[in-house]
Amino acid sequence: MPANLLEGKPIALKIKEEIKQQVQALGTKPVLASVQVGENAGAEAYAKSQQKTADSLGIEYRFQKLGKETTEAALCEFIQKLNSDKSVNGIIIQMPLPPQIDYKKISQFILPEKDVEGLHPANIGKIVFGRAKVLPCTPAAVMELLKETKIDLNGKEVVIVGHSEIVGKPLALLLLEKFATVTVCHIGTSQAGKLQDHVKKAEILIVAVGKAGLIKGDWIEEGTTVIDVGINRVEGKIVGDVDFEGASQRASLITPVPGGVGPLTVTMLMRNTLECARLQRGK
Ligand code: NAD
Repeated sequence: MPANLLEGKPIALKIKEEIKQQVQALGTKPVLASVQVGENAGAEAYAKSQQKTADSLGIEYRFQKLGKETTEAALCEFIQKLNSDKSVNGIIIQMPLPPQIDYKKISQFILPEKDVEGLHPANIGKIVFGRAKVLPCTPAAVMELLKETKIDLNGKEVVIVGHSEIVGKPLALLLLEKFATVTVCHIGTSQAGKLQDHVKKAEILIVAVGKAGLIKGDWIEEGTTVIDVGINRVEGKIVGDVDFEGASQRASLITPVPGGVGPLTVTMLMRNTLECARLQRGK
């Protein structure tokens, strides 16, 4: 039987409505500063969609583009200025950055209280203790999708494929907080020829790799919930990491790509901006 779609848009709409009301209650517009370094069509499109969402929620989006020759030191200086600008509540650095700039280094310069991506070590550290108020956007989006399914995560076999700092690792911590049994697979798992075995065990499968068709439909057990975070462009179309046609014959719920995790990720960025603004106002 074909799976039911687990769509991000309706959930995003609900959360955006809540954000809008809370922004109004705040009295002043939260301000999100967005910095892009150099030209990149993908980053520009992402920033445009952030701008559109921010506008619709009453959040001020201040976009700034720096030249492609910008040095790491110059970008740090720019971030320090935004850190000390009291009118700015949140800071996001658009990816990708030119090769002379190391994102891991640069992201640590953003004040933790303005870190709307939730990726500063201080904020990631709080996830370990279950005390984070600002969560990394994509893992937070996945948790919202899971919340919508009403599945009790306690003791569930959750398999994550992909162990990046922005998705797999923080997501594993958030799921542990809900008492799920979490397995994290990565390139080493594939190289050891064990990916299929792990995927077969999943009651909930979350894939964030960036390789179209990595997860074959017949690897998925009947009744599995599948969340596909991957974004790949294949022959002009956007697809995920999971063979959607095959998987949707076996999964009980599956996210479409596009239209699954994506719409929620940008919503989480706006929720974090609101949260940062509130925390800065002592609310
Ligand atoms: P990344 O490159 O930082 O990490 C990729 C992960 O996949 C690593 O853990 C790596 O070990 C693993 N991997 C690579 N090849 C593998 C293989 N053959 N078998 C098993 N694991 C393998 O990527 P990322 O930044 O975490 O992004 C992953 C994907 O998610 C990308 O397609 C990205 O575009 C997408 N993404 C989507 C959203 C969204 O909002 N929908 C947000 C962030 C990332």
